Amino acid sequence: MTAFNAITFENSYRQLGEQFSSEQRPAPVSAPELIRFNGALAEQLNLPMGLNHLELVNVLAGNMVPDNISPIATVYAAHQFGSWNPQLGDGRAILLGEVIGKDNKRYDIQLKGAGQTPYSRMGDGRSALGPVLREYILCEAMAALGIPTTRALAAVTSGDQVARETMLPGAIFTRVAQSHIRIGTFQFFSARDDIESVKALADYVIDRHYQDAVKALQMNPDTDSYTALLTCVVEAQARLIAQWMSIGFIHGVMNTDNMLVCGETVDYGPCAFMDQYIPNKVFSSIDQHGRYAYSNQPDIGGWNVSWLAQALLPLMDEDESKALEKAKHALATYSEIFEQHYHQLMAEKLGFAEVSPEVTELSVELLALMAEQGSDYTLTFRALTDELASEAETHVLSDDVYRLSDAFQPWLADWQVLLKENNIKAATAHNLVLRKNPAFIPRNHWIEAAIKQATDHQDFAVFHQLVDVLAKPFEYSQKNSAFAMAPTPEQEVLHTFCGT
Ligand code: AMP
Ligand code: MG
Repeated sequence: MTAFNAITFENSYRQLGEQFSSEQRPAPVSAPELIRFNGALAEQLNLPMGLNHLELVNVLAGNMVPDNISPIATVYAAHQFGSWNPQLGDGRAILLGEVIGKDNKRYDIQLKGAGQTPYSRMGDGRSALGPVLREYILCEAMAALGIPTTRALAAVTSGDQVARETMLPGAIFTRVAQSHIRIGTFQFFSARDDIESVKALADYVIDRHYQDAVKALQMNPDTDSYTALLTCVVEAQARLIAQWMSIGFIHGVMNTDNMLVCGETVDYGPCAFMDQYIPNKVFSSIDQHGRYAYSNQPDIGGWNVSWLAQALLPLMDEDESKALEKAKHALATYSEIFEQHYHQLMAEKLGFAEVSPEVTELSVELLALMAEQGSDYTLTFRALTDELASEAETHVLSDDVYRLSDAFQPWLADWQVLLKENNIKAATAHNLVLRKNPAFIPRNHWIEAAIKQATDHQDFAVFHQLVDVLAKPFEYSQKNSAFAMAPTPEQEVLHTFCGT
């Protein structure tokens, strides 16, 4: 059996300077047990196979810290629901270190719920089982949908109870990210006028995430590396949010500490996939004013990156007005990239490899019709795949799962005409739509069912089943039809909670 200390853990972020983090060991728990370990991800991360089980569980629970690991908690600030909070940080997350994956990229391995840190404020540093399972399910579902996301390496129960509204079983989540550096990390130093630290952080992020892209942008002699960095992050955010929108995902808490500069989705707290298509849909119980409603997400993304611009301004140019010009220019690309990417994704969902004004109009009409009809977002698009399927196709949704109502007939006719006008064969369109319209998304009512069964009965069967089905979201099979179905009115989840 292989031991954990055979793994090379690096800590480049820790070496960036002591102002960025605090040394922090996880606090042990009573009786850890493994819920799930993501072997496929472990392999991608070059972690040795066949790690000693007992050692593995103890490390994932924070009960054992091998000699080669120097854990830290990182500091940041944020705009939370628009209000400035100058002092935040990993209050219940501990970064074990970084590993180099098979793709030669650097990945953070972080324990979430591993005990208090200097940034815990009034919090206990712990996580309840429910949010841990939710984050595991969402991370892996998003990854399978091809959306940039932090990943789930493992979940363990702690054997301890945590006090929330009631006493709940505790758990620890092992999260993997290309890095956990947030827009709020930049804001922390910028707000303190610590320009040297902003510069060190920016150089680090360029080196870690955007080396080639920044070099390419600097082919233009007027572009400095920090404006280039801003441009890269702007693009990553615009593309990410376009993907969220195309799939009906509502993040729910797009505070600037929950936006990673690497462009991965992070913090699956009160998030949800829409069932019925309602453009201004809000799930989060704490989002009383609908700041993070589905339809607001693109604008909020733009607002968030403007805070990164603010932090980088002093580095862009000594001349303040020149720096402002550069920042404005970089920020202006946000909406352009978002629109372009979003319309491209929507075109693909309809079977068009290329976007055109006619295709965009068609997708806008479909969304309007869906809103009017109160249709299920995911299944309406998925049902389109069946309209193009040949007679021999066996993976079509059965009528009890979903059927397009007659109200869609005129739209379907227009769609078929436009496909023909663009010389797109049904088989070609079918091929594309099958890869762009999932049959399985993490339905809120299934997540709740998985959490309830685990919390009330220590039974993880639904959780495992859900994770397994969601690993292949585009491959519909009738035997899993229950996971594809929209909720009945009784099953429908109306609100999601942070659950911290
Ligand atoms: P989140 O809403 O999960 O992004 O958390 C916002 C802030 O609260 C972050 O700085 C977290 O580290 C902190 N936090 C959330 N839950 C806890 C907890 N149980 N104990 C300590 N800090 C927490
Ligand atoms: Mg957070």
